[in-house]
Amino acid sequence: MEKVLKITQEGDPILRKKSEAVKNPENPEVKKLITDMVVTMKRASGIGLAAPQVGHSLRIFTVNIEDKIYVFINPEIKDISEEKIPFEEGCLSVQKIWGSVIRPKKLTIKALNENGKKVKIRAKGLLARVIQHEMDHLNGTLFIDKAEKLSKIEENK
Ligand SMILES: [Zn+2]
Repeated sequence: MEKVLKITQEGDPILRKKSEAVKNPENPEVKKLITDMVVTMKRASGIGLAAPQVGHSLRIFTVNIEDKIYVFINPEIKDISEEKIPFEEGCLSVQKIWGSVIRPKKLTIKALNENGKKVKIRAKGLLARVIQHEMDHLNGTLFIDKAEKLSKIEENK
């Protein structure tokens, strides 16, 4: 059965750890984790989710953009564009805070997908943005470390 996982929040040390490579993507526990991550990401209306955000220090993240789901296992980022752009980011692990982060506009990601097959994608726009944000999670970095200025969304009274 699919399970909605608890999303770890800023302050949890797992969000500050460097995640470990997945040794066997075919492992049923890894497959189950990925299935649960996709369900959790969709339920939270997130566009990306990294394994440390659900309590697993593993190099896996999922992306949900325009109804397309991507799974990246042991990702590597290559061919980063020199051109950088600012964009407002938020995070399921840092609630009610937003901030503009400057990041490269385009990149290539190499990884394994959910079937353990090698994939290589040239990404730009929102996909490139989310990939870099999630990749940071695997290295213990949060967008609040990089944002120029953070804004707090006030609760409606
Ligand atoms: Zn995040």
